[in-house]
Amino acid sequence: MGEHRPTAEFPRHLEALYARFPFTRSYGDDPISELRPLAPDLRHAEVAGVFASTLAIGNTTSIRGAIRRLAGLVDGDVARLVDPAWSVERGRRLRGFRHRWIRGDQLDRLAEHLSAFYAQEPSLETAFLRGLNAGGFAAGVDALARVLRGGVAGRRGRPLPRGYAALFPSPLDAGRSPSKRLTLFVRWMVRQRFPDLGVWRRVPTGELCVPLDQHVHWIAYHLGLTARRSRSWRTVEEVTESLRRIDPIDPVRYDFVLCHTGVSGDCPKERDLAICGPCSVRPDCLLWRGRRSAG
Ligand code: SF4
Repeated sequence: MGEHRPTAEFPRHLEALYARFPFTRSYGDDPISELRPLAPDLRHAEVAGVFASTLAIGNTTSIRGAIRRLAGLVDGDVARLVDPAWSVERGRRLRGFRHRWIRGDQLDRLAEHLSAFYAQEPSLETAFLRGLNAGGFAAGVDALARVLRGGVAGRRGRPLPRGYAALFPSPLDAGRSPSKRLTLFVRWMVRQRFPDLGVWRRVPTGELCVPLDQHVHWIAYHLGLTARRSRSWRTVEEVTESLRRIDPIDPVRYDFVLCHTGVSGDCPKERDLAICGPCSVRPDCLLWRGRRSAG
């Protein structure tokens, strides 16, 4: 069996999916609806974005709940997390925090690393751009991962909390991680169009890569945007290239719609006449066309 490819009409079908998509419904379900009120300026957006993306594990309801709980612990002012004068109180307030396998002591260290970074540089955009200009998007994400793992503060030699470094995988690590959470963080910071925050002005949207979560991978595979069944950085690059051919200026524009088509249940992830009938990308879908699923 040959590789599955979308039809020549796929760009038009995808555009129709985008045009009809109920953004308002899915915005309320997305973590960014918790993030936006915490982000009135660049510093707040970066700090809230780093913590929200770090917590982006599990379903959207639990992620939104985790962001809300964290915001409650800092009385709604996330910039306090990186205020050196607040470090003792921060540790006390974060101590009992837990979301899935992420613990308060890890978040406390993350805040410490960010605080050390901001003592030297005004914005994470600078660190990202250094990587981007040296080696492309993957190197930009790698630069961010290094900051968060403790590129500045970590040199002091204090042991990292258990499991800490694994929270910030890089596409340049041996495992070639898809680095979904940091890639999502960059999307939030860079894109100025809804629903993103657009506080970074020096990174072109054409450079972005898709945050490849399980929903985006599932639909991308079944629409023939990648033939890869596993999520790796190579898969991220393939899906992004497929989307870049449709919109070179803003290839990640479709990410929110592809993701929430899966999250919302709009796509049942199986051939279902009643639900698939009105689906705009049905002619391109591997399941609809009757071949086997990626599982
Ligand atoms: S045709 Fe059905 S299975 Fe395929 S993407 Fe659309 S809703 Fe999902």
